[in-house]
Amino acid sequence: MRPVAAVLCSLTFAIASAQAADERATTLAQDAVIVDTHIDAPGILLDKWADLGEAAPDREFDYPRARQGGLDVAFMSIYTSAKQDDDDSARQVANTMIDGVEALVERHPDKFALLRSPKDVDRLRADGHVLLALGMENGAPIGDDLSQLQRFHDRGVRYITLAHSAANRIADSSYAIERKWHGLSPFGKRVVAEMNRLGIMVDVSHVSDEAARDAIALSSVPVIASHSAFRHFTPGFERNISDELAKAVAAKGGVVQIPFGIPFVNPQGAADTQAHFRAINDFNHRNAELKAAGKPLESEDAFEEAWTKAHPAPATKIDAVLDQIDYAVKLIGVDHVGIGSDFDGVSGELPEGLRTVADFPNLVAGLQARGHSDADIRKILGGNLLRAWSQIEAAAKQ
Ligand SMILES: [Zn+2]
Repeated sequence: MRPVAAVLCSLTFAIASAQAADERATTLAQDAVIVDTHIDAPGILLDKWADLGEAAPDREFDYPRARQGGLDVAFMSIYTSAKQDDDDSARQVANTMIDGVEALVERHPDKFALLRSPKDVDRLRADGHVLLALGMENGAPIGDDLSQLQRFHDRGVRYITLAHSAANRIADSSYAIERKWHGLSPFGKRVVAEMNRLGIMVDVSHVSDEAARDAIALSSVPVIASHSAFRHFTPGFERNISDELAKAVAAKGGVVQIPFGIPFVNPQGAADTQAHFRAINDFNHRNAELKAAGKPLESEDAFEEAWTKAHPAPATKIDAVLDQIDYAVKLIGVDHVGIGSDFDGVSGELPEGLRTVADFPNLVAGLQARGHSDADIRKILGGNLLRAWSQIEAAAKQ
């Protein structure tokens, strides 16, 4: 997820249609259980509402295109920013976003269902439902209150990305220069233990290497990276996972979910992303100082507009994503690789042929063309994530 202004000013780029994948790929995409662990639809709903049960052409996720692409389980990202952490609005925003997802299901009970357990996937998807699961991006809404984990679990949250673009009370972020905790904070360690107890998946995407290492070591069950590409392709970009940490995730039985966004899979895109988050953190600090001094604030929209203009997304083909998957399979094994697109979270900066949830058949066709067996493709599309989730759920002690 990127700051909201960037999302809004680039929505026009998100209008795309599925390209024609061959019949074999389309059949497999429809038949396999596809689990996408990161779709940022709820954040955009708060800023620019649309009914995602109907065609919503300025979005990358809606019901008709999810069905067209064969998507079964869409983790809706309950994203809050470092800024909302600072101004204490993160918990309010997170709950409002969850309300929005619930409203969508209530408005279209024939199209959507909330998914709280991997056990319910087969039953609920049988009659054409697209299943909405909840993943919280940034542990900020927990605040310093461990009991919030139970509350958000009760509301359906099934993974938490421990931090986002800046250090929070739980962990350090990969984007920030500042390393407040050098890993997990003492509170963050209790958060991981409580997440294990409740059966909430620990997500190490976005956090610093030190924090990921701590979380993987501390967790008693597999951990996931909900949307992390491989740093191998983007040297120095800590937001993407290192080979060492990916192996540690796999050794524990977890899954690395590959995102599609140009900011992660293209080296130039990654460099721009890193610079952008550091710039926005600086921008926020500047505005906080201006506010404290009683002076007028700088415009965030103007900042984002200027940034986007100066850093156009480099043209990227679907092969960049296929290369990531091939590399991951070779490095950590086909049982530990999945997908977490980041649709609706990268301002439309997506590779050719992978622009919306209608495009999963293109990914399948690409994997088939590269020699992956249909059985392996089923694992990558969702089988692996459901296995890890089931294991985490089974170990919960509620
Ligand atoms: Zn993200």
